[in-house]
Amino acid sequence: MSDQTMPIVFDGHNDSLRLLAPFGATDVRRFVNGIPGAAIDLPKARRGNIGGGFFAVFASSPGGMDVVITVDGYEVPMADPLDPATALRATLAMMAGLFRLERVSDGQLRVVRTVADIRAAFGASSIAAILHLEGADAIGPDLDALEIFHRAGLRSVGPVWSRPNIFGSGVPFRFPASPDTGPGLTEAGRDLVRACNRLGILVDVSHLNERGFWDVAGLTDAPIVATHAAVHAICPLTRNLTDRQIDAIGESNGIVGVNFEVSATRPDGHDERDTPLSAIVDHIDYLVERIGIDRVGFGSDFDGATMPNALRDASGLPDLVTALRERGYGQGDMVKLAHGNWLRVLEATWKR
Ligand code: ZN
Repeated sequence: MSDQTMPIVFDGHNDSLRLLAPFGATDVRRFVNGIPGAAIDLPKARRGNIGGGFFAVFASSPGGMDVVITVDGYEVPMADPLDPATALRATLAMMAGLFRLERVSDGQLRVVRTVADIRAAFGASSIAAILHLEGADAIGPDLDALEIFHRAGLRSVGPVWSRPNIFGSGVPFRFPASPDTGPGLTEAGRDLVRACNRLGILVDVSHLNERGFWDVAGLTDAPIVATHAAVHAICPLTRNLTDRQIDAIGESNGIVGVNFEVSATRPDGHDERDTPLSAIVDHIDYLVERIGIDRVGFGSDFDGATMPNALRDASGLPDLVTALRERGYGQGDMVKLAHGNWLRVLEATWKR
C-alpha cells in the first residue's frame, strides 16, 4: 500500500495578519484560539497540517476597490501611491502584531529567519512564519528601513502591490488583459533588488507588471519567485504569469506558488465561490508540465482573496491533496508540492 500521509504544507502567501488589527496582545491572541470566518488561525492550520508560510505585512489603500465591468470582463482603476508615513505606520503596526503573536503563542508560532529555523519549527509542530512585505511602500529610497526590517526578521519583499510606489508599478486588476500594463522598475527599484540580493532577502515578483518582472529577472542573482500567482494561459488576469514568465522562473530554478483565489484560477475570471478544486489542480498540472515538479508549490492567498467553497480555509487542505493524488501525484511529488520545493528555493535564496 502506498504512503498516503498528509504532508506538511508550507504556503507561499497569506494575508491572515490583517485580521488581527489593531494588533494588541489581546487582538493577536485570537489567532491562537481561533477566529470565526478566518481562513488561517492556529486550530485550522493544525487541521490542514500547515507547518508554516509567508505571512504578509501589507499597508492597504484607503477606500475600497471600484470594480468596473467591461464588455468581456472587468478592471479596477490603479490605486494611488500611499503616503510613505502612513505606509510606515501601518507596516510597523502589523509587524509588531506578528512579533506579539509569536510571544503570546507560547511557541506555537515562530518567526523564522533560516531554513534550519523552519525545519526546527516543523519538528516542534510550531507554525514557521516568514515575515513578508507585500509592497515596499514603507521603505524610502535610502533603504534604511530595509536594513532595520531585515535585522528584525524580514526575509521576503514584494517591491509592489497593485499600485505604483518609488520602486515600480504594480499591475492593476484587469481581465482579460496582458500583464504588460506600464513602466518597469525605477532606479530605486533596481537598488532595492540589489540590496535584497546582498542581504539574502527573497524578492517576490507577484503583482509586478510585466516590465517590472523582466527587470527583476535581469538583475537578481537568486531564483525567481512568484509567491502567489497563477497561469495566464488558463486565466488571462493581469496578475497571472505568461508562458514566457513561467519559463524564466523555471530556468532560474525558482518557484511559482499557486494562488487558490477563484478569480485568478477560473478560465472565466468570475469571483464565484462555487468553483471545484480541479480549477486549482489545472494550474498546478500546467506548471508542472511546463517547468517541472520541482518548481511548483502552494501560494494560497488565504484571508486575502475569495476562496472556493471546496477550500474555504486551511482545514480543507487535505481535500486539495486528495484531488492532486487523484490526478496522479504520488507521495514524493506531494511532499515537493506541499513544502519541499519552497524549502529548496529558500535555501538557495537566504544562504548568501
Ligand atoms: Zn497579493
